Amino acid sequence: MIKPIVSGTAIFTKAATATKEDLPIAYDLLDTLKANQARCVGMAANMIGCNKAIIVVGLGPMLFAMMNPVITKRSGKYETEEGCLSLTGVRKCIRYQQIEVEYQDLNMKKCHRKFEGYIAQIIQHEIDHCHGIVI
Ligand SMILES: [Zn+2]
Repeated sequence: MIKPIVSGTAIFTKAATATKEDLPIAYDLLDTLKANQARCVGMAANMIGCNKAIIVVGLGPMLFAMMNPVITKRSGKYETEEGCLSLTGVRKCIRYQQIEVEYQDLNMKKCHRKFEGYIAQIIQHEIDHCHGIVI
């Protein structure tokens, strides 16, 4: 189900661990991202008012959800600027070219994947949201 995007204090709250019961949130998040793909490449659950550690990433045809994502390795530090649906304008931030992430997929199966470049940047931005950090 497509959900409205919230702003305000809800998005500055650290997200709780997501469980199997929270899987419907992941599907709502995927639907909401699809509906906003023209202006948005990723979303975290707190942006639709659910305080759980779930993110979705959508880059072209690649659209996937990550439950409880944690960055386990990072390298290739650089400075960049990002925008966010929850803010106006852009802000400077530090990102890493390559990251390794541990997460659970929509079957709650543990996964470990490497990402680099733009998709790694999106994931870092959305994981920050799970910690209540907006850029
Ligand atoms: Zn954002």
